Amino acid sequence: MTTLPARRLLLVHAHPDDESIGTGATMAHYAATGAHVTLVTCTLGEEGEIHVPELAELAADRADQLGGYRIGELAGACAALGVTDHRFLGGAGRYRDSGMMGLETNEHPRAFWQADLDVAAGHLLEIIREVRPQVMITYDENGFYGHPDHIQAHRVAMRAHELAAAEGIAPAKVYWTAMPRSVLEAGLTHFAEASDNPFAGITDLSELPFGTPDQQIAACVDATEQHAAKEAAMRAHATQIPATSWLYSIAGNFGAEFMGVEYFTLAVGEKGSGTGRYGWEDDLFAGLAPDDAAGPTEAGAQRGPDDAESAVVPAVGQR
Ligand SMILES: [Zn+2]
Repeated sequence: MTTLPARRLLLVHAHPDDESIGTGATMAHYAATGAHVTLVTCTLGEEGEIHVPELAELAADRADQLGGYRIGELAGACAALGVTDHRFLGGAGRYRDSGMMGLETNEHPRAFWQADLDVAAGHLLEIIREVRPQVMITYDENGFYGHPDHIQAHRVAMRAHELAAAEGIAPAKVYWTAMPRSVLEAGLTHFAEASDNPFAGITDLSELPFGTPDQQIAACVDATEQHAAKEAAMRAHATQIPATSWLYSIAGNFGAEFMGVEYFTLAVGEKGSGTGRYGWEDDLFAGLAPDDAAGPTEAGAQRGPDDAESAVVPAVGQR
């Protein structure tokens, strides 16, 4: 029997680099404070653009070696974040990057978009059985911004949660990544003054595929102390994020908060106590009883229906 730390966090992401851009500060924060952080990445990101000229021939329509290369980039990112438990869903290469919505690559036989939901969720369920996370992070039903693999990661994570609930081992809380409207509004104002404004041409927030009303945000993880780790993790994904990216220049202009503060909505579970106008939690484990923090029993062991944790009810698609 392996003993894992009392707090265990599972993240389900679509491609290498999503973990760092979307949740890197949160991952580094929990890893640094003694939680067990498990990252599951669903594809190798084979269809990504390549921003390193000397690696251009690795592209999907050329040598098709980008996916394998990105395994190394992801390892570098995890090292920067202090995360040691990383897996690919079903094993590296099992599911292929589907590419943007509507492209021919969606139809590839191994495209994650084509994955059988229960088979893919079964792979994740095995990890849940082993690690027994109390908290899981994934995307909302639109995959945060509509990429097929992000939508599929959401579906697989929520299906795995249902299957885990039937065994009484579901994570007590499920969060979806989110960006509060107030933060976007402030960003738009700031960016309008920048020469490399990433939102040039956007005058109204409703033109963006993301943005959540502040009152619907449940948690704000302030991990500004980890902003450098997050930036280092992003730089490890050099093929995907150019060294000259606006992400880095804005981080330089607006300080640690831009990189270090991350937001979430709560899809499953009870919100713990929080602070501020909308009572945002500052800890994803807020409100979890000590019992919820019980460690894994035996790897893969099923627990009886009388187990207290079986009371966790999945609320797929509900807020
Ligand atoms: Zn992605």
